[in-house]
Amino acid sequence: MGKIALAIHGGAGTIAPELMTPTREKAYREALDLSLRKGYGVLLEGGAALDAVEAAVRVLEDSPLFNAGRGSVFNADGQHEMDASLMNGSDLQAGAVAGVQNVKNPISLARKVMENSGHVLISGNGAFEFAHKHKVPLEDDQYFFDEFRYQQWQETVGTDVYQLDHAASAPAKEKKFGTVGAVALDTNGHLAAATSTGGMTNKKWQRIGDSPVIGAGTYANDASCAISCTGHGESFLRAVAAFDVHALMLYKGLSLAEAVREVVHVKLPPLDGDGGLIAIDREGNIVLDFNCSGMYRGQVGADGIYHTAIFR
Ligand code: ASP
Repeated sequence: MGKIALAIHGGAGTIAPELMTPTREKAYREALDLSLRKGYGVLLEGGAALDAVEAAVRVLEDSPLFNAGRGSVFNADGQHEMDASLMNGSDLQAGAVAGVQNVKNPISLARKVMENSGHVLISGNGAFEFAHKHKVPLEDDQYFFDEFRYQQWQETVGTDVYQLDHAASAPAKEKKFGTVGAVALDTNGHLAAATSTGGMTNKKWQRIGDSPVIGAGTYANDASCAISCTGHGESFLRAVAAFDVHALMLYKGLSLAEAVREVVHVKLPPLDGDGGLIAIDREGNIVLDFNCSGMYRGQVGADGIYHTAIFR
């Protein structure tokens, strides 16, 4: 069996350790652990990297702790508009959805877009129609409701302020990005990446971030690496962050760690690009890096042990 490995994230940002109660931390770690187990289980059975990242992300979408699927932030109209994308490193196939509502697992809709639509990225009502046609499970608005996100929205509702997914209790102290993602290497040496998010609290004008944009929030190519980003979407879009890691490896010959460092610590900061990313290469090397105080993250590689972490 070839090497297999998986990494996941549940968002990065300014996560203040003093605001993290033991109960809350335990809940986060359990959700991350379950996601790792689901995704790695697929790889252990010889499954494809694409199936593994989809399975891992679905677990995080189903948890209200993260800003993706259930528990997504509220937009200016008090609704949930979700973005997701995934990419397969072996054939560069990709699928994505933007601004979708009521779809239980946007990442699985992105997969259907990749496999059945003839397109890469579809959005809004059209994406909803496509979901309906392909019998993708839907949920009512109540399913996506989370009191914590609702309180976040109440701080900005009726204003022009939109904000990244920060804690209601201490806005100035804690600013975090609850987007989720996964990257994997399967036993056949193939890579894949997936990212899913509710975007920014109080967003309007059908704002779309980096998460559903191939090359910005998500990228996978067997020639180099698989990447899933989390952070200030506008900056990651301008930096074409995920593709840039790939390009630095392929064209400049940098290692995975060097390429990630360059993007996260050199290229993004001047663009106000707070956040981080998870990355994996064909050898199964994993890099989880961020330029803020924390990132919900986990990995399982050569040692077969499930590692989760939040702070640096
Ligand atoms: N990148 C996401 C966005 O801008 C936010 C996040 O990572 O939480 O939509």
